[in-house]
Amino acid sequence: MKKGKFMVPTCISCGSKVWPPSHRCPYCLSKTSLKKIETTGILLEFSSSHIKGKEGVFGLIEMSGIKLIGSFGTPQLKEGMKVKMTRCGVRPDGTAFYSFAPAKA
Ligand SMILES: [Zn+2]
Repeated sequence: MKKGKFMVPTCISCGSKVWPPSHRCPYCLSKTSLKKIETTGILLEFSSSHIKGKEGVFGLIEMSGIKLIGSFGTPQLKEGMKVKMTRCGVRPDGTAFYSFAPAKA
């Protein structure tokens, strides 16, 4: 993820996606390995933030069976619409960020 590629730990035994990321599967306690997943998902809900320094539009996205919070550069959103991850990475303070944009139909 530090290189801007989105990877999700997947259990090598039962195939479960482990989110939030962990080295052990929470279901069968087997090891996990990082796998690239499809970065197109569905926007479940979204809201705008007006908190100083954190202005923007944030949405809850379901993608390949996991849910995560992403930021959008546009308020032109609809619940249930298809969205695509455009960028991901780690901020200097160590927190992960995910940027999304509406997917072209
Ligand atoms: Zn497992």
